[in-house]
Amino acid sequence: MMRTHRPGELRSGDDGTRVTVCGWVAHRRDHGGVVFLDLRDATGLLQVVVDPGVAGLEDVRRVRSEWVLRVSGVVRPRPAGTVNDSMPTGEIELGADSLEVLSESEPPPFPLDERADIDEVLRLRHRYLDLRREPMQRNLRVRAAVNAAVRAAMDAQGFCEIETPMLIASTPEGARDFVVPSRLHPGSFYALPQSPQLFKQLLMVGGFDRYYQIARCLRDEDLRADRQFEFMQLDLEMSFADQADVLAATSVAVLAAAEAVRPGDAPDAVAQITWREAMDRFGSDKPDLRFGMELIDLGEVFAATEFRAFQGAACVKGLCVSGHGESSRNVVDGLVERAKQLGAAGLVWMRVRDVDGVATLESPVVKFLSEPERLGIIDTLGAKVGDLVLLASGSWATTVSVLGQLRLDLGRPPVSEGGLHFVWVVDFPLFEGLGEGGRPSPAHHPFTMPHPDDFDLLDSDPLAVRSQAYDLVLNGWELGSGSVRIHRREVQQRIFALLGIDEDDQQRKFGFLLDAFRFGPPPHAGFAFGIDRLVAILAGEDNIREVIAFPKTQSGTDPLTNAPTPIDPTQLRELGLAMRATPKS
Ligand code: ASP
Repeated sequence: MMRTHRPGELRSGDDGTRVTVCGWVAHRRDHGGVVFLDLRDATGLLQVVVDPGVAGLEDVRRVRSEWVLRVSGVVRPRPAGTVNDSMPTGEIELGADSLEVLSESEPPPFPLDERADIDEVLRLRHRYLDLRREPMQRNLRVRAAVNAAVRAAMDAQGFCEIETPMLIASTPEGARDFVVPSRLHPGSFYALPQSPQLFKQLLMVGGFDRYYQIARCLRDEDLRADRQFEFMQLDLEMSFADQADVLAATSVAVLAAAEAVRPGDAPDAVAQITWREAMDRFGSDKPDLRFGMELIDLGEVFAATEFRAFQGAACVKGLCVSGHGESSRNVVDGLVERAKQLGAAGLVWMRVRDVDGVATLESPVVKFLSEPERLGIIDTLGAKVGDLVLLASGSWATTVSVLGQLRLDLGRPPVSEGGLHFVWVVDFPLFEGLGEGGRPSPAHHPFTMPHPDDFDLLDSDPLAVRSQAYDLVLNGWELGSGSVRIHRREVQQRIFALLGIDEDDQQRKFGFLLDAFRFGPPPHAGFAFGIDRLVAILAGEDNIREVIAFPKTQSGTDPLTNAPTPIDPTQLRELGLAMRATPKS
């Protein structure tokens, strides 16, 4: 056997044991006579001591960082006063009596020490070295534990794991497709799946009543900290099931994943809020419930106001920013500017100060407010001396979204703080606005069932139609979405028509789904949540690249393999393709 133990697993109970371990040299300290090596593998670090005069260990003086060694010797307690409590192996050391160099290493291009702050492109170019670092080792193991827990939870609930193809015809999820040219059918293209959406619906028609898959999804969108071209999601679908069934099954999986890697931190259940209430109270359809600072309605306080800015406004709301009352004028002006950038006509701010023992509003506009209005603001917002009060008015949608963003700017805790606050957001609108030609555009995807009470509004007031769509949110991050699906051909055709997809297009793009729906489609519903985002939050990372083994940079390149790269003229010819212009190198 190459090794008897893994270095990071040895403890004081192993004192006196003869072991052989393998690993990389993390640090080497040559104290003249004695040489100390920290040997690292996936399990952690072990201190190896090469005492002077031990025969056959002369090689140790050549050894450098990241060389790979096989060391044998006897485990012994560290001498008194040299115990290192911050290391799991800190009570012991290995007294080496034989040492073999398994491979040598050039000096690494960056230190692999956990504390080092290294340029990301350099890290990605040498990802294989970056992966040796403790945070990456930890994060990818968290990821593996999440995947395992999700699979176990789905299996235990009777879901069947089924893979769906990667080379397909387009499945619309609102993003741009990645396409793959066909060699055998020049001029034709496969699309890579934005999600397994249509296949999982076909699996329901195919009689698999509980499907899941940890699926790769590909979307050609601009990248961000929480978005990559390719990402993994737990994708699931259930027949003879409604919204409550999907929420329950998904909650089991997501809570099991959280419990597996953050034992004791996960709640027992996922909270639930309607879309309307989430927007109203938090100004966001992905409310971060780790902190309060809710948006409070001041409509009644200003019902008969003389203050011009608020007169006749559809909505007046306020936010109390606790402890920020003495923010500098610069900071406050910055907030007004930010509100304007976000679309507000303006932002009214007031400091709450102690005047003769009474909490009193101070601001250039206070003189325009009546006494009951001033008291109303303080009372309704629960404002205290030392707080900053922010008020916005205008349309409901703009007011809540502007204050919602300011709430996040001012109150959002770092990703690793504040616990785990899962929430289902339900009753989303079916359409999110009017797009081209005054046509409504789907808020989720076009296969989403309208709310049963709102069918009558489809033609008369489509934007007021609620859907049976729901999102899962964790700490203000959207983890995923799902919906009860339309399972009747005529309803699906009616929605397509409303979206402006004519019959030819329906047949061309979704003919296979509509055909399948001729043959007894069961009622069905499903969901998908992003594994990358879930793992990032559970690992306390605010960038999903930190939990992906080989991610792309923000500009979509891979510094390791240099993808994307031009392809050979021969390959182009085989595919029946020609470049129109010479690409920039
Ligand atoms: N296909 C959807 C998505 O990827 C999820 C679903 O509706 O099940 O977001």
